[in-house]
Amino acid sequence: MAIDAKGLLAQVQANLRALESCPVHDFQREDRRPMPARYRCSRCGAEASLQFVNGYQQGRMHAGAPK
Ligand SMILES: [Zn+2]
Repeated sequence: MAIDAKGLLAQVQANLRALESCPVHDFQREDRRPMPARYRCSRCGAEASLQFVNGYQQGRMHAGAPK
């Protein structure tokens, strides 16, 4: 099966645009067993890893945002 590099790049760029344009993410866990879980923002639809979500939540906490 060939990899659609252009299509994959377009998906990554669209996800980055969503991440950057959303004022406040609300990440929800998506179970994808046997693959590792991913997180999707219920507001912008962006997908993120657990590491990204943890860093995002810690950054909000350090900035004094409500939980
Ligand atoms: Zn969002």
